[in-house]
Amino acid sequence: MSREQPSDGNANAPANRYGADAPESRFRALLEWAPDAVVIVDAAGRISIVNRQTERMFGYERRDLIGKPVEILLPERFHAAHVGHREQYSTAPRTRPMGAGLELFGKRKDGSEFPVEISLSPVMEGGERLVVSIIRDVTDRKEVEAQLHRAARALERQAAELAQSNAELEQFAYVASHDLQEPLRMVASYTQLLARRYRGKLGEDADEFIGYAVDGATRMQALINDLLTYARIGTQARDPEPTDTGAIVDLVISDLSAAIAEASATVTHGPLPTVEADPTQLGQLFQNLISNAVKFRGERPPVVEITAERAGEDWRFAVRDNGIGIAPEYLDRIFVIFRRLHGRTEYPGTGIGLAICKKIVERHGGRIWVESKPDEGSTFCFTLPARAARS
Ligand code: ADP
Repeated sequence: MSREQPSDGNANAPANRYGADAPESRFRALLEWAPDAVVIVDAAGRISIVNRQTERMFGYERRDLIGKPVEILLPERFHAAHVGHREQYSTAPRTRPMGAGLELFGKRKDGSEFPVEISLSPVMEGGERLVVSIIRDVTDRKEVEAQLHRAARALERQAAELAQSNAELEQFAYVASHDLQEPLRMVASYTQLLARRYRGKLGEDADEFIGYAVDGATRMQALINDLLTYARIGTQARDPEPTDTGAIVDLVISDLSAAIAEASATVTHGPLPTVEADPTQLGQLFQNLISNAVKFRGERPPVVEITAERAGEDWRFAVRDNGIGIAPEYLDRIFVIFRRLHGRTEYPGTGIGLAICKKIVERHGGRIWVESKPDEGSTFCFTLPARAARS
């Protein structure tokens, strides 16, 4: 707001009854102090009163404006239309913003233009109908809006490019892993044939080498299969449907019964809700988490518990185990594809399981994380939106 004192009006003494010779009234002081330009126009469209802010905003002296057609404050291209609008307004005057939805501009004395917002109100004064226009320079706001708009466009473009490159990468991973399967199957089956037919016949070294080849081919098959599963999450997803997570978990527990029995593990679950999800992917998610919970066990027999609780708009699931736990510095990294914390001989695996879990959860609009302490066990938590779900 201006810190200058209102002018006493006499300095620029316009020869008009609304100008400097009007008595110093509160109204006049208010007008002078207003942060917006106030221009009062008579029935003939001539300027009767302006305030200090009008002088500043438009670069005119007060005396240059009083008595002039109000169009002096507009760029020329709007003059003709404005006269028409003014006449129309005088037939049904009411307080309203001017030119709703239109970009309005003011013109300074030096000819430069700037964006404005204008509101109009009719007033009666001494039997004459006047129109009060309150004019705000919105240059700064428009600039901020334009910057926001540009930033939003840039973000949208980046998001679209990212989605595109993600889709291409996914497609590449899918095609590559799919097409690699066939030749790999051939390598695996022929090395296995070699192993069966020639074990003990070609010397110790040959047995050892063939053993490595078989092992390598088998591992590569596991990797390619997992990679294919990972790539398929995006490309072969089913539409979400109401999915009873309790039933899914029961199915997974029964599928894993051999591994569970072998580890003398106990796997239980509390009441689990129905959510909108792709049931196959939800099965993969629980399968990965439960089999990890059984696999990464310490000395104790594994005890695994699956629970769910409502957390605002989401269901928050937890798969808790009493296994080896994870050091704090690895808590984020384990969700990255191929990231493993142990050698293959210690704990078998490809390092894709949790990357698959993350992708599935995020596709469903949730997030996944782990809480853990080494040797005390881990709790893998994830959320799924509860909307449109029955529990
Ligand atoms: P994989 O099981 O094939 O190694 P994952 O992506 O499923 O691959 O897991 C990545 C790594 O995260 C594992 O190698 C292991 O180090 C760690 N991890 C996963 N689940 C658990 C768990 N329940 N307890 C301890 N560590 C785990």
